[in-house]
Amino acid sequence: MSYQVLSRKWRPQQFADVLGQEHVVRTLQNALERDRVAHAYIFTGPRGVGKTTAARILAKTLNCRQREGAVPCNTCPSCTEITRGNNLDVLEIDAASNRGIDEIRELREAVKYPPTAGLYRIYIIDEVHMLTTQAFNALLKTLEEPPQHVVFILATTDPQKVPQTILSRTQRFDFRRVSVTEIAGLLGKILSHENIASTATALQLLARKADGSIRDALSLLDQVIAYQTEQVDEATVADILGLVDDDYFRDLAAAIARHDMKAVLAQIEITFDRGYDLQEIAQGFNLYLRDALLTIETGDPTLTSKGSLVEIPGDLQTADLLALLQIGMETENQMRYARQPRVLLEHQWLKMASLDRSVSIAELLGKLDPGPQGATVPAQSPVPAQSPAPAQTPAPAKTAQPATENPRQAAAPGAVAEPKPLPPGPSEPAQPLQPPATAPPPGRSFRRQNGDNPGAASTAEPQAKSTGADIEAVKAKGGNIMTAIESRSAATASILDGAQISSLEDDRLGIHLRAGEAIHLDMLMARKGLVEEIIEQQTGQRLSMVPTIPESAQAAAGQTATPPADEAISYLIKTFNGEDY
Ligand SMILES: [Zn+2]
Repeated sequence: MSYQVLSRKWRPQQFADVLGQEHVVRTLQNALERDRVAHAYIFTGPRGVGKTTAARILAKTLNCRQREGAVPCNTCPSCTEITRGNNLDVLEIDAASNRGIDEIRELREAVKYPPTAGLYRIYIIDEVHMLTTQAFNALLKTLEEPPQHVVFILATTDPQKVPQTILSRTQRFDFRRVSVTEIAGLLGKILSHENIASTATALQLLARKADGSIRDALSLLDQVIAYQTEQVDEATVADILGLVDDDYFRDLAAAIARHDMKAVLAQIEITFDRGYDLQEIAQGFNLYLRDALLTIETGDPTLTSKGSLVEIPGDLQTADLLALLQIGMETENQMRYARQPRVLLEHQWLKMASLDRSVSIAELLGKLDPGPQGATVPAQSPVPAQSPAPAQTPAPAKTAQPATENPRQAAAPGAVAEPKPLPPGPSEPAQPLQPPATAPPPGRSFRRQNGDNPGAASTAEPQAKSTGADIEAVKAKGGNIMTAIESRSAATASILDGAQISSLEDDRLGIHLRAGEAIHLDMLMARKGLVEEIIEQQTGQRLSMVPTIPESAQAAAGQTATPPADEAISYLIKTFNGEDY
């Protein structure tokens, strides 16, 4: 028996089988069950997510005389003809290849005639945004006064290009990308039906590669089946898809961690030998770094892209991984426009491997106090450097950093873009990537003023206007509040580290952060409830936290802020669309 491609073999024949579009399917089913059928629909969404499939099922259901509610019989002549694609009453037009006015004029003539055998004449116009303006105008005339027996189902990946006049005469359904989990589930079902064993990781790899498109996922699976029919595992999939396996990235990260330039270059050589796509390599390494971060920070395998924890080479820590990831993201962006992608990749990866010699990680991430130049974190890198918990890995004092002989470099994050000479000099011993642990932890005025060193900071603060709430009572509990916050969220505590209680008016508790960026305010506001809850626990006062970053804090000398781990992680998850993994 000849091989039938999966997308054909597994094409859903009823709404219940359409994957990942429940919101659309439910509405269409309801309409069909109540016989409230519109005369024109438009299905929008990315390619390969089931728009045309849903259109055919809708057409089939409308014309099936034996349908039960929204379920076509799939056995009557009309149903079987539509499945085969040769029903005279259902016409599919590909607007990408028939975009002219002639086709639409023909259509306008044809719609006048009643259906041949079915109840409706149904036009499915795919990629409708490709029609010419004249063709749209001709179509519009038909849509304005459609004959009773005609239903239009327009489909498009680009609804912005469809004139508003057309959109306003159609009922719109937005199809979404199908999640990795849903696609992996479908692939697993298909493989077990085909009696082919598979691993969960292999299915995840395929599903991820398909990027939300079921059509792409099935055609990838076709390739895999054609190649290897006994067992679909990670190695097979990686091989067929030209994907890079995790060992590769682990080896690369290990080489970077030990500043082994030769080994880094050897990894790049491997990508050439194996014919890997450099853009994909750059992306893949970023995903690996992200997974490594999530492994360290959450220990939750379900959050990683492959559903399993990553082996962390050497003693790479959160701050190191964030620093590497920033260069990685930069690489990924630049790769799109690079005339010499290989040179770019070499440059960027060697930059990673020479990280601690060129700039400290804290500087790289713009977390050092910006100083008089008023440098800020580069816009493209909102992920701040941070340590898992402030007390465990204190940020280095400026004097402990190798790059401080160059003050410009120490202060300006712009210096990050300029790598130091690549190969390490013989006199330069390899250093660990993480900042030296000898520097004292940054001062904590929030805590100090309330216990460790009472009175030290009280004179610097604006006098609070006293209301019903008592600012002194809050200040007195500052140390306890910080401890309680730290036990619940080290990230939140690290943003508040060194902050000052500045005012208390009408239950609005003003808090001046010592230093930071707008993103820290956002992060803090995201934890507003937690902070207020703890303040209430500790002081018995229900207050509304109003954090600010005083201008003066930008220029204040001193310490590195230690931004939060979990906020950075949630940023990462968002950045990588992690909700689908
Ligand atoms: Zn039927």
